[in-house]
Amino acid sequence: MKIIMLGAPGAGKGTQAKKIAEKYGIPHISTGDIFRANIKNETELGKKAKEYMDQGLLVPDELTCDLVTDRIKNDDCKNGFILDGFPRTIPQAEALTKALEKMGQKMDFAIDVDVPDSAIIERMSGRRACLKCGATYHIVTIPPKQEGICDNCGAELVQRDDDKPETVQKRLTVYHDQTQPLIDYYKNEGILKTVDGTKDFEDVFTAITEILS
Ligand code: ADP
Ligand code: ADP
Ligand code: ZN
Repeated sequence: MKIIMLGAPGAGKGTQAKKIAEKYGIPHISTGDIFRANIKNETELGKKAKEYMDQGLLVPDELTCDLVTDRIKNDDCKNGFILDGFPRTIPQAEALTKALEKMGQKMDFAIDVDVPDSAIIERMSGRRACLKCGATYHIVTIPPKQEGICDNCGAELVQRDDDKPETVQKRLTVYHDQTQPLIDYYKNEGILKTVDGTKDFEDVFTAITEILS
Protein backbone atom coordinates (compact mmCIF):
# COMPACT_ATOMS: atom_id res chain seq x y z
CA MET A 1 0.00 0.00 0.00
CA LYS A 2 1.52 3.30 -1.12
CA ILE A 3 -0.02 6.36 0.48
CA ILE A 4 0.51 10.12 0.33
CA MET A 5 -0.73 12.37 3.13
CA LEU A 6 -1.80 15.80 1.88
CA GLY A 7 -2.96 18.76 3.93
CA ALA A 8 -1.94 22.11 5.38
CA PRO A 9 0.87 22.36 7.92
CA GLY A 10 -0.66 21.32 11.23
CA ALA A 11 -3.62 19.49 9.69
CA GLY A 12 -2.64 16.26 11.47
CA LYS A 13 -0.78 14.46 8.67
CA GLY A 14 2.06 13.30 10.89
CA THR A 15 -0.20 12.19 13.74
CA GLN A 16 -2.25 10.02 11.36
CA ALA A 17 0.68 8.84 9.25
CA LYS A 18 2.43 7.37 12.30
CA LYS A 19 -0.68 5.40 13.28
CA ILE A 20 -1.28 4.15 9.74
CA ALA A 21 2.36 3.10 9.37
CA GLU A 22 2.05 1.13 12.60
CA LYS A 23 -1.25 -0.51 11.64
CA TYR A 24 -0.10 -1.62 8.18
CA GLY A 25 3.55 -2.26 9.03
CA ILE A 26 4.91 0.12 6.41
CA PRO A 27 7.59 2.80 6.82
CA HIS A 28 6.54 6.38 7.64
CA ILE A 29 8.61 8.73 5.51
CA SER A 30 8.46 12.35 6.69
CA THR A 31 10.64 14.85 4.87
CA GLY A 32 10.22 17.28 7.77
CA ASP A 33 11.58 14.64 10.19
CA ILE A 34 14.47 13.88 7.81
CA PHE A 35 15.39 17.58 7.60
CA ARG A 36 15.11 18.03 11.39
CA ALA A 37 17.36 15.00 11.97
CA ASN A 38 19.90 16.52 9.57
CA ILE A 39 19.74 19.86 11.40
CA LYS A 40 20.28 18.12 14.74
CA ASN A 41 23.29 16.23 13.34
CA GLU A 42 24.60 19.45 11.73
CA THR A 43 24.98 17.92 8.26
CA GLU A 44 25.45 20.00 5.09
CA LEU A 45 21.87 19.22 4.08
CA GLY A 46 20.67 20.26 7.53
CA LYS A 47 22.46 23.60 7.35
CA LYS A 48 20.94 24.39 3.95
CA ALA A 49 17.44 23.18 4.88
CA LYS A 50 17.37 25.19 8.11
CA GLU A 51 17.76 28.50 6.25
CA TYR A 52 14.49 27.86 4.44
CA MET A 53 12.58 26.14 7.23
CA ASP A 54 13.19 28.96 9.72
CA GLN A 55 11.61 31.39 7.27
CA GLY A 56 8.58 29.18 6.68
CA LEU A 57 9.71 28.56 3.10
CA LEU A 58 9.98 25.24 1.29
CA VAL A 59 13.38 23.63 0.96
CA PRO A 60 14.23 23.70 -2.79
CA ASP A 61 13.12 20.72 -4.88
CA GLU A 62 16.77 19.92 -5.81
CA LEU A 63 17.49 19.15 -2.15
CA THR A 64 14.27 17.23 -1.58
CA CYS A 65 13.31 15.02 -4.54
CA ASP A 66 16.31 12.64 -4.61
CA LEU A 67 16.05 12.19 -0.86
CA VAL A 68 12.62 10.60 -1.26
CA THR A 69 13.03 8.88 -4.62
CA ASP A 70 16.15 7.14 -3.23
CA ARG A 71 14.46 6.27 0.06
CA ILE A 72 11.53 4.46 -1.58
CA LYS A 73 13.93 2.13 -3.40
CA ASN A 74 14.94 0.63 -0.03
CA ASP A 75 13.97 -2.94 0.74
CA ASP A 76 11.67 -1.94 3.59
CA CYS A 77 9.43 -0.11 1.08
CA LYS A 78 8.69 -3.29 -0.89
CA ASN A 79 5.21 -3.68 0.62
CA GLY A 80 4.43 0.01 0.56
CA PHE A 81 5.13 3.22 2.47
CA ILE A 82 3.42 6.35 3.65
CA LEU A 83 4.72 9.75 2.57
CA ASP A 84 4.12 12.63 5.00
CA GLY A 85 5.03 16.13 3.83
CA PHE A 86 6.13 15.02 0.37
CA PRO A 87 5.30 15.90 -2.36
CA ARG A 88 4.72 19.57 -1.59
CA THR A 89 5.11 21.03 -5.09
CA ILE A 90 4.01 19.96 -8.57
CA PRO A 91 7.64 19.28 -9.65
CA GLN A 92 8.04 17.02 -6.59
CA ALA A 93 4.87 15.13 -7.52
CA GLU A 94 6.13 14.72 -11.08
CA ALA A 95 9.52 13.46 -9.85
CA LEU A 96 7.74 10.92 -7.65
CA THR A 97 5.47 9.71 -10.46
CA LYS A 98 8.50 9.31 -12.74
CA ALA A 99 10.60 7.45 -10.15
CA LEU A 100 7.73 5.04 -9.49
CA GLU A 101 7.11 4.53 -13.22
CA LYS A 102 10.71 3.39 -13.59
CA MET A 103 10.00 0.80 -10.90
CA GLY A 104 6.75 -0.21 -12.65
CA GLN A 105 4.69 1.15 -9.74
CA LYS A 106 2.28 3.92 -8.82
CA MET A 107 0.80 5.48 -5.69
CA ASP A 108 -2.48 3.98 -4.43
CA PHE A 109 -4.00 6.77 -2.34
CA ALA A 110 -3.52 10.50 -1.76
CA ILE A 111 -5.39 11.39 1.42
CA ASP A 112 -6.17 15.05 1.95
CA VAL A 113 -6.62 15.87 5.63
CA ASP A 114 -8.87 18.89 5.30
CA VAL A 115 -8.64 21.57 8.02
CA PRO A 116 -9.51 25.26 7.51
CA ASP A 117 -6.85 27.90 8.16
CA SER A 118 -8.79 29.21 11.17
CA ALA A 119 -8.23 25.92 13.02
CA ILE A 120 -4.60 25.56 11.94
CA ILE A 121 -3.27 28.41 14.05
CA GLU A 122 -4.76 26.76 17.18
CA ARG A 123 -3.23 23.39 16.29
CA MET A 124 0.22 24.82 15.62
CA SER A 125 0.42 27.05 18.67
CA GLY A 126 -0.28 24.05 20.91
CA ARG A 127 1.97 21.58 19.09
CA ARG A 128 4.87 20.19 21.08
CA ALA A 129 7.46 17.94 19.51
CA CYS A 130 9.99 15.42 20.70
CA LEU A 131 13.12 16.03 18.67
CA LYS A 132 14.57 12.74 19.87
CA CYS A 133 11.94 10.26 18.61
CA GLY A 134 9.71 12.46 16.42
CA ALA A 135 6.53 12.08 18.50
CA THR A 136 4.10 14.99 18.41
CA TYR A 137 1.62 16.19 21.04
CA HIS A 138 -0.82 19.04 21.57
CA ILE A 139 -1.00 20.76 24.94
CA VAL A 140 -4.84 20.69 24.88
CA THR A 141 -6.11 18.03 22.45
CA ILE A 142 -3.38 15.35 22.61
CA PRO A 143 -1.35 16.02 25.78
CA PRO A 144 1.52 13.82 26.96
CA LYS A 145 0.93 11.90 30.21
CA GLN A 146 3.42 14.12 31.99
CA GLU A 147 3.61 17.76 30.96
CA GLY A 148 6.62 18.57 28.79
CA ILE A 149 7.89 14.96 28.65
CA CYS A 150 7.65 12.53 25.71
CA ASP A 151 5.53 9.43 26.50
CA ASN A 152 7.65 7.33 24.13
CA CYS A 153 11.19 8.12 25.14
CA GLY A 154 11.14 10.46 28.14
CA ALA A 155 12.91 13.32 26.33
CA GLU A 156 11.87 16.94 26.83
CA LEU A 157 9.17 18.33 24.51
CA VAL A 158 9.77 21.60 22.68
CA GLN A 159 7.89 24.05 20.50
CA ARG A 160 9.36 23.90 16.99
CA ASP A 161 11.12 27.11 15.87
CA ASP A 162 8.86 27.25 12.83
CA ASP A 163 5.64 26.92 14.88
CA LYS A 164 5.76 30.54 16.03
CA PRO A 165 2.65 32.48 14.87
CA GLU A 166 4.51 34.70 12.32
CA THR A 167 6.13 31.70 10.67
CA VAL A 168 2.89 29.69 10.71
CA GLN A 169 1.15 32.44 8.71
CA LYS A 170 3.94 32.35 6.12
CA ARG A 171 3.75 28.55 5.90
CA LEU A 172 0.02 28.71 5.28
CA THR A 173 0.53 31.16 2.40
CA VAL A 174 3.22 28.89 0.96
CA TYR A 175 0.86 25.93 1.35
CA HIS A 176 -1.94 27.61 -0.61
CA ASP A 177 0.44 28.76 -3.37
CA GLN A 178 2.61 25.70 -3.84
CA THR A 179 1.07 22.63 -2.22
CA GLN A 180 -2.69 22.96 -2.58
CA PRO A 181 -2.45 22.49 -6.40
CA LEU A 182 -1.51 18.87 -5.63
CA ILE A 183 -5.13 18.22 -4.66
CA ASP A 184 -6.11 18.68 -8.32
CA TYR A 185 -3.04 16.78 -9.49
CA TYR A 186 -4.08 13.68 -7.54
CA LYS A 187 -7.77 14.18 -8.36
CA ASN A 188 -6.74 13.91 -12.01
CA GLU A 189 -4.74 10.78 -11.22
CA GLY A 190 -7.94 9.34 -9.73
CA ILE A 191 -6.47 8.55 -6.28
CA LEU A 192 -7.57 11.55 -4.18
CA LYS A 193 -9.58 10.91 -1.00
CA THR A 194 -10.61 13.65 1.43
CA VAL A 195 -11.19 13.31 5.17
CA ASP A 196 -12.52 15.92 7.59
CA GLY A 197 -9.45 16.71 9.68
CA THR A 198 -11.34 18.84 12.20
CA LYS A 199 -12.73 15.73 13.91
CA ASP A 200 -11.10 14.03 16.92
CA PHE A 201 -7.96 12.18 15.96
CA GLU A 202 -9.55 8.73 16.52
CA ASP A 203 -12.42 9.67 14.17
CA VAL A 204 -10.01 10.88 11.51
CA PHE A 205 -8.07 7.63 11.86
CA THR A 206 -11.25 5.57 11.43
CA ALA A 207 -12.19 7.56 8.31
CA ILE A 208 -8.75 6.89 6.81
CA THR A 209 -8.71 3.16 7.59
CA GLU A 210 -12.16 2.83 5.98
CA ILE A 211 -10.73 4.36 2.80
CA LEU A 212 -7.72 2.04 2.87
CA SER A 213 -9.61 -1.20 3.48
P1 ADP B 1 4.31 20.31 9.01
O1 ADP B 1 4.31 19.14 9.96
O2 ADP B 1 3.95 21.56 9.67
O3 ADP B 1 3.52 20.05 7.78
P2 ADP B 1 6.92 19.44 8.16
O4 ADP B 1 7.54 18.86 9.36
O5 ADP B 1 6.32 18.50 7.16
O6 ADP B 1 5.82 20.51 8.61
O7 ADP B 1 7.93 20.39 7.42
C1 ADP B 1 8.62 21.40 8.11
C2 ADP B 1 9.39 22.24 7.09
O8 ADP B 1 10.33 21.40 6.40
C3 ADP B 1 8.54 22.86 5.99
O9 ADP B 1 7.96 24.09 6.38
C4 ADP B 1 9.58 23.03 4.89
O10 ADP B 1 10.43 24.13 5.14
C5 ADP B 1 10.43 21.78 5.04
N1 ADP B 1 9.91 20.67 4.20
C6 ADP B 1 9.40 19.50 4.62
N2 ADP B 1 9.03 18.72 3.58
C7 ADP B 1 9.33 19.43 2.45
C8 ADP B 1 9.19 19.19 1.06
N3 ADP B 1 8.63 18.05 0.59
N4 ADP B 1 9.61 20.15 0.20
C9 ADP B 1 10.15 21.29 0.66
N5 ADP B 1 10.31 21.60 1.94
C10 ADP B 1 9.90 20.68 2.85
P1 ADP C 1 1.05 17.98 10.41
O1 ADP C 1 1.95 16.77 10.35
O2 ADP C 1 -0.01 17.97 9.36
O3 ADP C 1 1.82 19.26 10.40
P2 ADP C 1 0.55 17.18 13.18
O4 ADP C 1 0.19 15.75 13.04
O5 ADP C 1 1.88 17.51 13.73
O6 ADP C 1 0.27 17.95 11.79
O7 ADP C 1 -0.59 17.87 14.08
C1 ADP C 1 -0.54 19.28 14.38
C2 ADP C 1 -0.96 19.50 15.85
O8 ADP C 1 -2.34 19.18 16.00
C3 ADP C 1 -0.21 18.61 16.82
O9 ADP C 1 -0.04 19.34 18.02
C4 ADP C 1 -1.16 17.42 17.04
O10 ADP C 1 -0.97 16.84 18.32
C5 ADP C 1 -2.53 18.09 16.92
N1 ADP C 1 -3.55 17.24 16.30
C6 ADP C 1 -3.39 16.30 15.31
N2 ADP C 1 -4.57 15.75 14.96
C7 ADP C 1 -5.51 16.36 15.72
C8 ADP C 1 -6.95 16.22 15.80
N3 ADP C 1 -7.64 15.38 15.02
N4 ADP C 1 -7.60 17.03 16.69
C9 ADP C 1 -6.90 17.90 17.48
N5 ADP C 1 -5.57 18.07 17.43
C10 ADP C 1 -4.86 17.31 16.57
ZN1 ZN D 1 10.26 11.05 22.23
